Amino acid sequence: MDELLLELQRYQKRNSRKEKNDFIDYLKQKFNKLGFEFNVVKTKLINSVHFETVSDDNPDIILMAHYDTGTILPCWYEWLIRLTGHTRSILTALIVLLVFKLVSLTYNEIIINIFTITVGLSFFIPALFIKNQHTMNDNTSGVMALLLLAEKIAVDDSLKKRVKIVFTDNEEKILIGSYQLRKIWEKNGLNYKNAKIISVDCIGRGEHVIISYNFVNSIAKELIKVFEKNKIRAKCINMCLVPLSDAYNFWTTGAVNINMMYKTIIPGGYYIKNIHSYRDKEISKDNIKLIVESLIEYIKTYTTTQYS
Ligand SMILES: [Zn+2]
Repeated sequence: MDELLLELQRYQKRNSRKEKNDFIDYLKQKFNKLGFEFNVVKTKLINSVHFETVSDDNPDIILMAHYDTGTILPCWYEWLIRLTGHTRSILTALIVLLVFKLVSLTYNEIIINIFTITVGLSFFIPALFIKNQHTMNDNTSGVMALLLLAEKIAVDDSLKKRVKIVFTDNEEKILIGSYQLRKIWEKNGLNYKNAKIISVDCIGRGEHVIISYNFVNSIAKELIKVFEKNKIRAKCINMCLVPLSDAYNFWTTGAVNINMMYKTIIPGGYYIKNIHSYRDKEISKDNIKLIVESLIEYIKTYTTTQYS
C-alpha cells in the first residue's frame, strides 16, 4: 500500500490532457501486470478518456472512481461547507441568499456592488483557472481504493468477468464524463442497469462513511449492512435531485457514491474536508483499508461467481 501511495503521489495533478494521458498509461501498465483485459474509451466532445476493464455484458458490479482532478475553491466557501455540509446543498444556498439579503438591507449601492463582485470573483477566478496541485483525497483516494480492489479481483478470473472497474474522466466538469460513458454503454449494449454501481470518491479523510443515492436506495441498504457488520460508522443519505459524484448519472439503478465525511458545525449534515484546496495533501491509509475490505466483502456476497 505504501508503494502504491508513493506512485500515486507522483500522478496527483490530472487536469491537462497530457497529465491525464500519463495517468492512463500508468493504469495500462498496472492492469497489464494484473492480467486484466481493458478498454480506453474516448469521446470527441470535451475530450473525455475513460479506462475500463473488460467484463461480461451484464456485470454484477461496476466500481467507479473519477481520476480527473479539479480546481481551487475559496476559503470562505470551504468554511460555509463546514457549517452546512456537502449533504445539504439547499441549506448552503439558503445561507448564501440570506447573507446577500442582509447586505442588501444596507441600501448602500456601493457596498452591495463591492460585496457581489468580491464574492463572484473570489469564487469563479480560482474555480475556473487555478488547477489544484494536491488531490490526495479528491480523488486520488478513490483511485487508490479501486487499484487495491483490482489486486484482490485479479486473483479470480470469473470475478474479473462479473466486476467491471472503471476510471472516469471529467467528473469535475459537472459529471459530464460519466454521462457520456453511460451513452456509450447504451450504444454498445452493456447491461449496466442490472449492475450494482458504486462510485468511490473522497474516502481519504473523514470519520463517517457516507453512502449517498438519489431516491433509489436498494444498493445503499445492502452496503450499509456490510459496514455496520464491520462496526464502521456509516450512514445512507438520499441526495434527492442533487448530484454529488458520478453515481448521479446512474441514479435510476440505485447507484451510490461512497465518501468519507465529518459532521458539520450546524448539526445534521456531513462535509468533506479540504477538497479543492491546497490542503488536500494527506489521506489516511486506515480509511482506504476499511473501505476496500468492506467493498471486497460486498463484492463476494453479491456476485454470481462460485468461490473455491
Ligand atoms: Zn471527486
